[in-house]
Amino acid sequence: MRILSVKQGVAPIASAIANAYIDFSKMTASIVAVTVEGPGGKRATGYGFNSNGRYAQPGLLTERFVPRLLAATEAEITAPDGSLDPAGAWAAMMKNEKPGGHGERSVAVGVLDMALWDAAAKLEGVPLWRLLADRFNGGAADDAAWVYAAGGYYYPGKDVAALVEEMKRYLGLGYATVKMKIGGAPGVALKDALPDDLRRIEAVLKLLGGDGSRLAVDVNGRFGLHAALTYAAALAPYRLRWYEEPLDPLDYATHATLAEHYGPPIATGENLFSMQDARNLVRHGGLRPDRDVLQFDPALSYGLVEYLRTLRMLADHGWSPRRCVPHGGHQFALNIAVGLGLGGNESYPEVFAPFGGFADAVPVVEGRVRMPDVPGIGFEAKAELHAVLRGLG
Ligand code: MG
Repeated sequence: MRILSVKQGVAPIASAIANAYIDFSKMTASIVAVTVEGPGGKRATGYGFNSNGRYAQPGLLTERFVPRLLAATEAEITAPDGSLDPAGAWAAMMKNEKPGGHGERSVAVGVLDMALWDAAAKLEGVPLWRLLADRFNGGAADDAAWVYAAGGYYYPGKDVAALVEEMKRYLGLGYATVKMKIGGAPGVALKDALPDDLRRIEAVLKLLGGDGSRLAVDVNGRFGLHAALTYAAALAPYRLRWYEEPLDPLDYATHATLAEHYGPPIATGENLFSMQDARNLVRHGGLRPDRDVLQFDPALSYGLVEYLRTLRMLADHGWSPRRCVPHGGHQFALNIAVGLGLGGNESYPEVFAPFGGFADAVPVVEGRVRMPDVPGIGFEAKAELHAVLRGLG
């Protein structure tokens, strides 16, 4: 097994949207193409990109991780059975990196890790979800993944009627559960945000027949404990699907306090980028394995090699993989959800094109999506994204 080439580029994923913490007008993504030669001279090119919310990492890729991957020996990246070993490639990329302080190197490594898994499945001629089910899940794959439509961003001039129209479009696409931003647009004072958000939530709930289990809300880590508790008291009667990232993602003790005062599900984790950070959350965050939702995004957090460590850690702490619903809305996490039996996956029907979204020919039916039978992650079945990735040459 040899790495023949690694190409990288930077693509815009800018959108005229905002959550409670950032706007997305300057958002970028790294894209990579890794070409591998396997036994008998068989070649495959795997693609990777980082998911939304963190920026492209061309410097880290150029200076450290691509050179280390290209320098990896055949023995390092070949499994005992002769197949491509992404875990060996991961170890080669992480040579001379100290533990802790994960920063954004987890994004750079995650981009390459995605491409290596895409290549590994293509070399075997199987979809990634099938490869994962066979290697790590006793051959059991789900026949579809639960997905929900994430949107409800703050746009300049967007009113409650426009929000409800947006949610109606998601239901029309086949989604049963939707998510909206709360906590105020950037610059809006919290005392003004709460009454406005309750009007927005009630309008969407009306569309959903009053069923709170079909609506999640997302704060994007903006609140301190006082605001999180104030909102929690107002939200509790709605029995929402989940209350997402109410607090700073690394402030575990405040999560534990919130969880003592808010009974319905809490979701967080999209801004934790390592197994160690995830472990600190489950050790110290007071989250409840019978209801809360963990949203670690493999594309932002050192890739699937690390995500497998995270799943093993969760099992050791009594958490089922069904409590995991990754952030990001990309096909990589969708394959992982189906192949490893997660709880589902996020989806962004209207933003972050072309990186968000799934294969072109697979509709969402009653809030679930099936996987195409395409070797690798399935980028070749998503024309607009494939055109961007293929552009790497
Ligand atoms: Mg979120």
